[in-house]
Amino acid sequence: MYEDRPELETRTKIVATLGPASWDAPVLTQILESGADVCRINCSHADHASIRRQVARVRRAAMQLQKPTAILLDLQGPKVRTGSVETPLQLAEGDVLTVVMDPDYPASGHRIGTTYPQMAQDVSVGDPVLFADGALSGQVTAVRTEGVGEVDITMDVGGALGSHKGINLPTVDLSIPCLTDKDLADLAVGVDVGVDYVALSFVQRPEDVVALRNKLAELSEPDLPIIAKIEKPGAVERIDAILEVAEGVMVARGDLGVEVSIEKVPVYQKRILAAAHRAGKLSITATQMLDSMERNPRPTRAETTDVANAILDGTDAVMLSGETSIGRYPVRAVQMMDRISREVEGSRFFVPLSTDGMPAFTGTSGLVVQSACFAASEKARPLVVFSWTGSTARQASKARPRGPLFALTSNPRTADRLSLAWGVTPIVVPPVDSTDELIRMGEWALVASGRVRQGEEIVILAGNTPRRETANLMKIHQAGITDS
Ligand code: PEP
Repeated sequence: MYEDRPELETRTKIVATLGPASWDAPVLTQILESGADVCRINCSHADHASIRRQVARVRRAAMQLQKPTAILLDLQGPKVRTGSVETPLQLAEGDVLTVVMDPDYPASGHRIGTTYPQMAQDVSVGDPVLFADGALSGQVTAVRTEGVGEVDITMDVGGALGSHKGINLPTVDLSIPCLTDKDLADLAVGVDVGVDYVALSFVQRPEDVVALRNKLAELSEPDLPIIAKIEKPGAVERIDAILEVAEGVMVARGDLGVEVSIEKVPVYQKRILAAAHRAGKLSITATQMLDSMERNPRPTRAETTDVANAILDGTDAVMLSGETSIGRYPVRAVQMMDRISREVEGSRFFVPLSTDGMPAFTGTSGLVVQSACFAASEKARPLVVFSWTGSTARQASKARPRGPLFALTSNPRTADRLSLAWGVTPIVVPPVDSTDELIRMGEWALVASGRVRQGEEIVILAGNTPRRETANLMKIHQAGITDS
């Protein structure tokens, strides 16, 4: 798409999960320089000191590079696990495993504890149960609710079952709250250090997102954008209702691939991405995208094609997990995603999604945004959006204009958040007192940095300044040439 502007970043955004492989300053800097737009902090592997340290490091590296960068705090959620066991239980096909609703149960033989206290109340005979990311599986054959509660599972795939292994119950709507005590404590730290997005794990229904929103309001951050991780079949079924209350969704293919038969994941991915686009919300495609790059300097053909297909499906962002957090080649993995994106985005198969079926652009601002995107797309003119909260720029991103999309803002927080929006190049500019001054200053910033050529026709989208009104002005204009 940008053959004539190779210096611009890809339109599809890259999320890099931080970890020991990437959080030291030199690697982090290279990761951002290589095209990562968003850094993800995975609370499953972070304590409070680590969250604070990671945020400080990202902010420092981003400031040195003068690159707006978003930080996504990914809450662990109510991951159901086995309790502790000294030596892993050995289970064969046909064995009956008894799960006891006590995390401290002293496991032995074919009995083990769990962190899920209501399991005996929530499951029924016949429900499938998977352990250790699906490596072992069975079916519930008996439930006893007296005492702490016990569930018998007859194994159909056996193996060794160790401590703290994940337990997945695909057909069960879990009654445990979506936000655990750990999540609430991590959230408070994340808000305190100013993360840009919060991801909520194991969302089952819209109420889970609303519960997080209420907690954010209690922490005086009611508008912090929420990304709902879609990893339960129930969430796929309720995707439209979840999208009404979340700012975006993540196709969390790791747990999703255990919760549903794995062959359903590709079509679910398309369903979730299409629903997010229809709703005008953000989308991230996650997990195992370049998995083999945890160990090897080059990805497989299939992984490369997977990244390309997610981009063709219209995802806003592609995500790296183990590749950048614990892998041997974190920088190469980001470079590889960047190269794949450039190749796909430059191909004739990359047809930006249509806005058909999306919520109508309504009101003055909606009409102006729609007209500006139409004008920009007509000749792939650069679209220059002045945005205080970022909402005009996000709307323009969802219209998928054909040319570059620059979001100019004097609010650094908005610039950081817009790093996740498809196609948006966020640029921080100084505040000014009038709309004319705003346009002059914006044009100057773009021409001086070489992003727009002197005399090139651009489309400007702005609201009244300094009152920070939503967009009510569109102008087609030759950059750097004063009207008189
Ligand atoms: C996933 O399950 O795909 C995912 C992204 O979540 P987590 O890394 O927390 O397991």
